[in-house]
Amino acid sequence: MVDYINRTTVGLSQIIFNIKANAWPGILSLDEVTVDGGKPASTSLVGQRLVVNLEAALKPGCAVKVELWFGLRLPVINLASPEAYRGYLGYSPRQLNLGHWLATVAPRLADDWVSREDTPIGEQDVLDEADWDVTLTVSNAPDGLRVAAPGVVRENGPAHWHFVLNRARDFSLSLSDAFVMTSARSANGVKVELYTFAEARIQTESGILDSAAFALDSAVKATETFSDLYGAYPYDRLVIVQGDFPDGMEFSGIVFVGGEYFRAFNGPTSYLMIITVHEISHQWWYSKVGNDQAMSPWLDEALATYSEYVFIEEYYPALKDWWWDFRVNRLAPEGYVDSTVYEFSSRRAYINAVYLRGTQMLHDLRSDLGTEAFFDWLRRYGDAGAGRLMAPEQFWSLLTPEQLAATRATRERYLRQPDFTVLQMGGS
Ligand SMILES: [Zn+2]
Repeated sequence: MVDYINRTTVGLSQIIFNIKANAWPGILSLDEVTVDGGKPASTSLVGQRLVVNLEAALKPGCAVKVELWFGLRLPVINLASPEAYRGYLGYSPRQLNLGHWLATVAPRLADDWVSREDTPIGEQDVLDEADWDVTLTVSNAPDGLRVAAPGVVRENGPAHWHFVLNRARDFSLSLSDAFVMTSARSANGVKVELYTFAEARIQTESGILDSAAFALDSAVKATETFSDLYGAYPYDRLVIVQGDFPDGMEFSGIVFVGGEYFRAFNGPTSYLMIITVHEISHQWWYSKVGNDQAMSPWLDEALATYSEYVFIEEYYPALKDWWWDFRVNRLAPEGYVDSTVYEFSSRRAYINAVYLRGTQMLHDLRSDLGTEAFFDWLRRYGDAGAGRLMAPEQFWSLLTPEQLAATRATRERYLRQPDFTVLQMGGS
């Protein structure tokens, strides 16, 4: 059930939803959609775009209740498949992940609904914030089933949960009967919870190497540092889950970090720290401050990758050169930072241009502006963009005319479009 308020200035004869689950074949079966409890509405579903036609136009300021009845047949995560990265919506023998599993109302930009085509490169989700109220009942639940979920979680009897997560771009969770949960509180009062599997405590010849303890410590530090630099973390809890799928993935209040990084952990120069910190920084650059992940992916990914370096600078300054070499320079990245996800045929080329060149650009911008002014800018972007979808013009428009001039050569070096219209940045 979706409560939608028409906050535009025009009457709406349709409401458009994005259902990521239907971007991939064989998962979603849509049974019926009703509006305000009436007869089944006329709909069309193509890819992830669901059009719901309203019998009468929804006037500005008016609300409507849309009820969607659908089933999901989750795919098994196949690590040998190039689609394994989609494991945030899928299951392994010991874990079931529900990421981007619910329909979201498409955002409105420039008087139009926004749905982006799915592609195997990057993410294509453009998400407004919503208040989520979710009830979950698990039939035939195994003993010891645990839920890793963000927000306020209440267990109402066996295998029966209720979740509330307000002002979030998605509501995602993970279930397993094999989770080991550890937690710690950050200095700024966030409860950080880590859900791993037993193998995260690695047996070595010299004893146990606890990758989970290391990841939890990194997560707490990252939460503190990014809250200091970018503005308050918006929730009381942050959940980190060891995913039975490659890489990592960010959601509001919850992130996945691939199990391979826990198993291969051998100290701070492992991917475990980099990816954990990267995914946590998306709590600011994706979740708190939204952007069009298909058309301007650098806005979240360059900032998230640079946040890895910011973390290293703070806690492992001796590893700064290592990080540049390991993460960026050895890959000799090229390509325009302001590329869309649709311009690449390989994930490597995409990451090199958007993440890695993006990181180089941010570092050069920092040297153009000075460290203090640079982080002051990121902080103002974090404040101005909280709860909104931001565009590159809005990012650049937070610089003064002098700062824009001082950064011009850097923009020309990295961007296809170094020129933009300076916007007047208003209140909220
Ligand atoms: Zn990322």
